[in-house]
Amino acid sequence: MHDVLLLRTFVSVNPVIIAAELRGLLEPHQLEGLDVTWVSADQPVGKGDWVAIVPLLSRWVGGTELKQLPNLRIVANCAVGYDNVDVVAAEMRKVIVTNTPDVLTDATADLTWTLILACARRLVEALDLVRRDAWRGWHPELLLGVELRGRTLGLFGAGRIGQAVGRRAVPFGLRIIYAARSPKPDFERDTGAIRVGWSRLVAESDILSLHAPATPETKGIINTDTLSRMKPGAILLNAARGDLIREEALAIALEGGRLGAAGLDVYTEEPTIHPRLRAAPRTVLLPHIGSATHDTRRKMAAIAVANVQAVLAGQPPLTPVYR
Ligand code: NAP
Repeated sequence: MHDVLLLRTFVSVNPVIIAAELRGLLEPHQLEGLDVTWVSADQPVGKGDWVAIVPLLSRWVGGTELKQLPNLRIVANCAVGYDNVDVVAAEMRKVIVTNTPDVLTDATADLTWTLILACARRLVEALDLVRRDAWRGWHPELLLGVELRGRTLGLFGAGRIGQAVGRRAVPFGLRIIYAARSPKPDFERDTGAIRVGWSRLVAESDILSLHAPATPETKGIINTDTLSRMKPGAILLNAARGDLIREEALAIALEGGRLGAAGLDVYTEEPTIHPRLRAAPRTVLLPHIGSATHDTRRKMAAIAVANVQAVLAGQPPLTPVYR
């Protein structure tokens, strides 16, 4: 007993902040050696000597926040996107930034397909008809949707998730085009996908699905101009980041009947949705649940904390991000 107490005195315990919302997803052994302060997303962090922080994507970690945490060594973001972290400010302070790639790819690709099918087959209108007890029987022209076979799926961003969405499109008989900064030869070989420029992607897609991160180059890339260049009746999907779309412009395109449908999982000012978009016709609006499966959320929390443990043990981070 005496020895155990002595040993404990010499084992350093690292003060860390972890988003309180992750508590139920973590096992005690994953937190060994960490002195955790649980801070929920709506609570400020303030000043302190914490050496690591595991935030959710809703917490902005910028220069001011980092200055308040002079001992910080790692921001282990619990998301693959890291537009909520000022990576340049972190780098200047020699703070490592990590994310949670790969483990959420399948879940997010599956959810994108949920949106594609829901939009193409008018699922929301169909459910509403039944719920309102307004269905008057089988009719040959009731709720006609879009046949996928032979149509063109356009992917903006063909990284982990974009490619996973594209691979799922093959058995549906869709032609695939994509825009990314670099070519993806394996993806092209496996799926027959063709790399095109942004203008061609917008003009040729029957279904345009966004899978690029929110960066200065991609913010607002779907706007009045690009919407006017999309095919009449085209379907737009966004399971990436809300900032990619100018929401009012999208609402207007839906109101005017030019756009076939929009399936969205993410928004500019979450959890607020632009009121005009919320009221627009032919939308499938989800509350940012792209990665929301039991398995994936546990894996995301585990990777975020494993990054903290690695860095505090003097090892390289498992999944670092670079600007
Ligand atoms: P990723 O593997 O890094 O893929 C990002 C893709 O975007 C890459 O193909 C990249 O091109 C492309 N890209 C980046 N900037 C571009 C630009 N300016 N023009 C054209 N293409 C550009 O990321 P991921 O794991 O697939 O995740 C993608 C995004 O999905 C994340 O950033 C996150 O915001 C979002 N996400 C959302 C949810 C959700 O819950 N809805 C869940 C997970 C992820 P290169 O390959 O050529 O570099």
